[in-house]
Amino acid sequence: MFMKERLNTLISSVVAYAPKADVALIRRAYDFAESHHGDQKRSSGEPYITHPLAVAEILASFKLDVPSIAAGLLHDTIEDTSATLEDIRKEFGKEIEILVQGVTKLARIEVQSNVTQQAENFRKLVLAMSDDIRVLLIKLCDRLHNMRTIEHLPMEGARRRISLETLEIYAPLAERMGMNSLQEELQDLSFAQLNPDAYQSIVERIQHLHQLDKNTTALLIKDLQYILKKEGIQADVVGREKRPYSIWKKMQRKNVTFEQLSDVIAFRILVDSVADCYQCLGLIHSEYFVIPGRFKDYISTPKPNNYRSLHTHVIGPNQHQIEIQIRTWDMQKTSEYGVAGHWKYKQGLSSKKGTQYPWIRGLLDILKNASEADEFLENTKLEMFQDQVFCFTPRGDLISLPRGSTPVDFAYAVHSDLGDKCRGAKINGKLMPLRTELRNGDQIEILSSPLQTPSPTWERFVVTGRAKAHIRRFIRARKFSQFSTLGKSLLLREIKDSGEVLEVHLKKVLEHFEVKTLEELYARVGEGLLNAGEIIKISRVKQKNQGVEEGEDIPQALSIKPSKAKEALEIQGLIPGMAVHFAGCCHPLPGEPITGVVNTGKGITIHTSACELLEQFEKEPKRIIDVAWGSASSVEHVGRLFVMLSNKAGSLGTLTTLIGKNEGNIINLKITRRHYDFFDMIIDINVRDLDHLQHILASLRACGIVNTAERV
Ligand code: MN
Repeated sequence: MFMKERLNTLISSVVAYAPKADVALIRRAYDFAESHHGDQKRSSGEPYITHPLAVAEILASFKLDVPSIAAGLLHDTIEDTSATLEDIRKEFGKEIEILVQGVTKLARIEVQSNVTQQAENFRKLVLAMSDDIRVLLIKLCDRLHNMRTIEHLPMEGARRRISLETLEIYAPLAERMGMNSLQEELQDLSFAQLNPDAYQSIVERIQHLHQLDKNTTALLIKDLQYILKKEGIQADVVGREKRPYSIWKKMQRKNVTFEQLSDVIAFRILVDSVADCYQCLGLIHSEYFVIPGRFKDYISTPKPNNYRSLHTHVIGPNQHQIEIQIRTWDMQKTSEYGVAGHWKYKQGLSSKKGTQYPWIRGLLDILKNASEADEFLENTKLEMFQDQVFCFTPRGDLISLPRGSTPVDFAYAVHSDLGDKCRGAKINGKLMPLRTELRNGDQIEILSSPLQTPSPTWERFVVTGRAKAHIRRFIRARKFSQFSTLGKSLLLREIKDSGEVLEVHLKKVLEHFEVKTLEELYARVGEGLLNAGEIIKISRVKQKNQGVEEGEDIPQALSIKPSKAKEALEIQGLIPGMAVHFAGCCHPLPGEPITGVVNTGKGITIHTSACELLEQFEKEPKRIIDVAWGSASSVEHVGRLFVMLSNKAGSLGTLTTLIGKNEGNIINLKITRRHYDFFDMIIDINVRDLDHLQHILASLRACGIVNTAERV
């Protein structure tokens, strides 16, 4: 019954700072966790329940509220047992469910790649996923207990990975929240794993120096106490060994050996008021030799995480350099508990974010101002991270994107080439549409193909400027080249009537039309902004006026040969959607006569020659051009059918199966009317050409349930 005793001790420690705490709730959470973890064991061989219990104990040491303590007890039940979030909600309510869910989510984003390079992004990801700051506190306490017991993990690789993650991600988060003691312990535990030799030798040296300086330390404490008492200042003086990891950092930072590091013991003076702090400082500075340049006033200028203290270095007894920190009890509490120290226990109040928890605001301010790394990034607020989403590459690199981003944004963020060649995406191993909105922690694999090019439709759903710019640039370039090809064809066609025109002469009219290159001239014709006939006319006038200049090699300049011009413009090779559009009114198909209409700024729209819409262009004959299908194009065309179908079970299935069997891909289907015995519907089908469509129509008509089938 050892565990029950620990539970009782936990409960009494909670009641000590929160007399009205819901003790029964804590007991229920414990029972739930214990029965669900059952006889699961930790690597150490201890019952699993010892871990959540220890986490709850650590949370209680920070005086956290009952929901946090309960969530601490329950935090591994979702990940490791048969319990579900719904069970948690039913048993313990929404608030605790959200906390447990938050910790569970965090457990699933293990650091996957080189931590150091991406540490800042990971810290942000952790913050972004901790919607409630208590989630982060529980996670930190969970990590602390795991680090305290890490030597039981059998695999060295796992120990190293977890330690590195702790050092790079969680210790800095603890620091930013001002929880110094938590931060220091996490650092030392990680350091011991990551660099056991250095850790061991520093620990031994500290002990050695401590033995040597034992008398000095005692002497100095006595001295300080005497000096302060003489002036009537109430103060506690403690000598405190510096932590191995902070010594190690100092050795690296200052490039000194351990022998040269003299101040391994820091002295701390704790007083009641800020005024006392400065008075202490004055007394010490008049009593000891002060080392210049080492004095720091974090009271008038607190550290970003709200750390406040005076630091000074003096030469003490035996010519030892010593560091003295002077602060109030209040400042000490802040430096140990950080955010948790701001905790005001409020029994029975609902937890509406930001109102009941004023310390959340405090934390936001801390995070806002914290960290040098952040200064390179525009946004540091916790709220701002909510506007971001963090996703992994298959290699485990972390990519940060604005919220609402899609796999296309992700692809462009990785590399612009990957964006341009992107044809699909797997999100967490599953093939998903490119427009899918990404979520925190998603792993994205971009499928690419060298044949793929950016699609204009992407522009509608991408959110990053980078993706937008690349897509637009690509489309602009492609439009230009297509309009240019089209324009050149239109000019070629015109030459048929006008006789020979030399490219050199076309070049001479560039200025007249205010364009710089021939391609630009062609593009303007293709776009319908310039008229081909007009250009030829002006060009011929110029030709007549100026004649061909002497010395010009006329035959070679002949780049446009009228003999090559065809009567009708072939639309083959012009990709629909840019310079050429197929009319939505008549859905022309390869194999039937077509007519083109030039639209200013939009290129050419292709109608069937029988389309009624063409009548309205009779007054503008210049806009009408002869076009013809080129040889087999790979582009899919839309055929629109009207079908009247028997209204009975399964008939729609029969119809679609039939179309499918004939290799028609239905892209749209709309029921326009429903009679007692028949359905009217419009079906759009992707087909190769007119023959293909007629083949499908014939098979439909041959089918018993189809009353009518015809092209619209
Ligand atoms: Mn855990």
